[in-house]
Amino acid sequence: MIWRVFRFFLFQLAGGILGYRMALGVHPLEGAVAGMFVASASWVAWDLTRAQRLFRWLREGDITNPPAVAGLWGEAADRVRRLLRTRDRALHESEARLQEFLAAIQASPNGIILLDGGGRIEWCNQTAVEHFGLDARRDLQQHIGNLVRDPQFAAYQAGGDYAHDVAIPGPASTSSRPVRLSVHLHRYGEGRKLMMSRDITTLEQADAMRRDFVANVSHEIRTPLTVLAGFVETMQSLALGDADRQRYLGLMAQQAQRMQSLVDDLLTLSRLEGSPPPGMDEWVDVRQIMEHCTLEGRSLSEMMAPQGHVLTALMAQDCAVAGSRSELFSAAVNLVNNAVRYTPAGGNIQLLWRILEDGQGEFSVTDSGPGIAPEHLPRITERFYRVDRSRSRETGGTGLGLAIVKHVAHRHGAQLRIDSTPGRGSTFAIVIPASRIRAASAPA
Ligand code: ADP
Repeated sequence: MIWRVFRFFLFQLAGGILGYRMALGVHPLEGAVAGMFVASASWVAWDLTRAQRLFRWLREGDITNPPAVAGLWGEAADRVRRLLRTRDRALHESEARLQEFLAAIQASPNGIILLDGGGRIEWCNQTAVEHFGLDARRDLQQHIGNLVRDPQFAAYQAGGDYAHDVAIPGPASTSSRPVRLSVHLHRYGEGRKLMMSRDITTLEQADAMRRDFVANVSHEIRTPLTVLAGFVETMQSLALGDADRQRYLGLMAQQAQRMQSLVDDLLTLSRLEGSPPPGMDEWVDVRQIMEHCTLEGRSLSEMMAPQGHVLTALMAQDCAVAGSRSELFSAAVNLVNNAVRYTPAGGNIQLLWRILEDGQGEFSVTDSGPGIAPEHLPRITERFYRVDRSRSRETGGTGLGLAIVKHVAHRHGAQLRIDSTPGRGSTFAIVIPASRIRAASAPA
């Protein structure tokens, strides 16, 4: 600054000397004053030009291109440029952080909507768009109550008690495909709200399934238990003859057996659900499965009806299957037992193992039984679902057989295919992927 003032005076002095010399012999003193005045005016004009360039640069706002001005104005330009660059960098950083933050919220599996003090949408992520059928742009600044019109939500929002969430149907919910959403409001900032939504459809379905399952199991156990308790009471209160006693004990044993089968099947299911899927290190000969099934089927058939069934087994290729021996035996036996139990005496049952054209292996059981009406087929593998309840009970069914078969099939990457025509019979087939099949090591 001192140097600048010094230079100003130097400039004036030079102007004064120049004026003095130019007016020498006429009016040297006036010439010196005029020279100093001209020097001051030019100094100010020059300074103003530089200031003008600096202001133009500031107005244009392009900080990358500062004016090349010397002196104090140049220094001011440099300071301003540095300040602006620091501010710009901070702005970029906070913008990047904001974008990262928004990207993280976008990636959230939960729907998130930010509401202003008046309940209008300020921002929402893609999941919220899907949950509520919103349009992320068009619906901005729209009141949430106009877009989520469920009365339960309206009451929840108006109530102001946001300690818990509220479960409402999603806008895409239909009776055949229900969608349930859990919505939770959280207060933040000044009157703002964060609205979180979660798809709880599968959770609620699983919960309903669990409740149904417990109710079904209780019901299945209570029936034989009640019968058993009745017999015990009768035997305690009545003096029965030997023949009656034997008959009652036989019936009691039957009920106990029923409960035993139910518990066995339940344990099998829980083992299947709780253990890792079978690997590729154990190979089971299909021949052994076929032999075991034939023996089991024939002995059940003889037990059920004196004339039995015509049971045949055909193995087109001698193969081995990678998987759990006990699970594959159990699934195959379940299918054969069902065929025997539901096919009237004298009917045909055929077991077949073959390799399909695409290399998959198929184990199938075809019977000439009553068949299954198409409306039952989608639900037939559900636990405790029965088409013919009384036939199932009479023959000692638990209602869990096909659920076990389906589970075993899925654990082996296989599929359970059911093909049935009422009155003509059924074919139940387990189709095993080619990767789990190889030629049997033992000769055919
Ligand atoms: P269950 O122990 O009652 O046999 P499953 O799960 O094995 O239970 O079978 C479910 C229902 O599917 C049975 O109750 C029966 O109505 C029907 N079903 C199964 N296999 C056959 C079959 N081979 N022929 C006709 N109906 C069958």
